Amino acid sequence: MAKQDGLAERVRAGERRALGRAITLIESTKPADREAAEALLQELLPATGGAYRIGITGAPGAGKSTFIEAFGLYLIAQGHRVAVLAIDPSSAKSGGSILGDKTRMERLAREEASFIRPSPTRGALGGVARRTREAMLACEAAGFDVVIVETVGVGQSEVMVAEMVDCFVLLIQPGGGDELQGMKRGIIELADLILVNKADGELKPAAERTAAEYRAALHLFPKKPGDWTVRVEPCSALKDEGIDAAWGLIERHRRRLEESGALAAKRDAQARAWMWHELRESLMAEFTDDPEAGAMIGALEARVGAGELSPGAAARRLLAAFLEKDGG
Ligand code: GDP
Repeated sequence: MAKQDGLAERVRAGERRALGRAITLIESTKPADREAAEALLQELLPATGGAYRIGITGAPGAGKSTFIEAFGLYLIAQGHRVAVLAIDPSSAKSGGSILGDKTRMERLAREEASFIRPSPTRGALGGVARRTREAMLACEAAGFDVVIVETVGVGQSEVMVAEMVDCFVLLIQPGGGDELQGMKRGIIELADLILVNKADGELKPAAERTAAEYRAALHLFPKKPGDWTVRVEPCSALKDEGIDAAWGLIERHRRRLEESGALAAKRDAQARAWMWHELRESLMAEFTDDPEAGAMIGALEARVGAGELSPGAAARRLLAAFLEKDGG
């Protein structure tokens, strides 16, 4: 693709169509687009860093889209501009999307101060999360001061999302202790704030019980950067209750991070870690695109599978074939 004339300025001026185009460019897998995307990001970089970066995860049905809509509308009413990037791990088996094809967050989508963008992953989760971080930066440059990255709590994308946000929110539904046991401990460990949604009507007592159980369990977890203790609160996205309190806690978490210097340290560490992600992913892409190494992969895999060759030896042969071609 040709140089993106004026695109950076238009993104920085807050033009939504330009932002949409920028993200399409960022998500493109064509090598020429990648170059243009990197040039664009370089131009946008000075205008980034000012937003609240919030990750929201939860199992399908926990109420993420209902919550994000209520939360987004609340923030817009407070004068914020809200971008939502949703990572949708379309099922590799069915090809169907987990987030659903139904139009989500219709009311929020109609707001002038909102920008909603789903990212279908087409199986390559790591790749999409990588691009999501860049899309997040583009949203910041476009003046969105709250950027929400939504992910389905199925355990793969959460770590990557936690590594790109300031505050990671876990949304759960009321349930017995099984819920706590069934939830992957790793995901709970990532959370800065846990919201027990659907605390309304008949579910209200159960939501409060669930919150108490989580609070008790969290005593065993170490404190977070900035000496932050993870908070667990009930809320109702449907009835618009506890939404303001949730934002209050996110703001308090943010202040704690800022005042202790932990925010700068966290973002610094995240950017560094991201460089290594990029390097690993780029190396793997170069490798799998390499015809000579590529030609050997099938046969070596078969021999490893049959127990004729150790995985380590096979990996070294592939690497040698790849490096030889490149070096010579
Ligand atoms: P997602 O899959 O996590 O995005 O969940 P949805 O937002 O689509 O919500 C799943 C279901 O839970 C829908 O039927 C919602 O109406 C319902 N739901 C969401 N939030 C609440 C809530 O606060 N209270 C109640 N009672 N139901 C809710």
